[in-house]
Amino acid sequence: MDGKITQAGGDTIFGKIIRGEIKTEFLHEDDQCVAFDDIEPQAPVHFLVVPKKAIPKLSDAQDSDEKLIGHLMVVARAVAKQKGLSEGFRVVINDGPQGGQEVMHIHVHVMGGRQLTWPPG
Ligand code: AMP
Repeated sequence: MDGKITQAGGDTIFGKIIRGEIKTEFLHEDDQCVAFDDIEPQAPVHFLVVPKKAIPKLSDAQDSDEKLIGHLMVVARAVAKQKGLSEGFRVVINDGPQGGQEVMHIHVHVMGGRQLTWPPG
């Protein structure tokens, strides 16, 4: 397993999920990321795409993470299709306190299956 999962930046519940310490059914797994259903869904479909590399938040990402972050979007699209979200969906990355981020391991929320409103709170 990639040692970066436990690197400084703090371990989180997502690190435990990625390492299999908290049993979670993955919708997708590859060498760079996993996807799993959110435990408190805000829509009929609500899953998270989480890189195995423990970047705390988007604002901590490096220019060299460009491919990885792009990969998360590609996986978000693929799992959204797998989930049948043919009418559209929303992709969100919360960043830091004002962005409402609670788990300090960067992740992409994908929500759909109902009409979503704008703007978010
Ligand atoms: P954020 O506020 O952007 O950091 O989002 C964190 C998300 O992680 C929330 O939507 C939580 O419901 C979700 N979450 C926390 N713990 C778990 C878990 N064990 N399994 C799945 N989702 C989780």
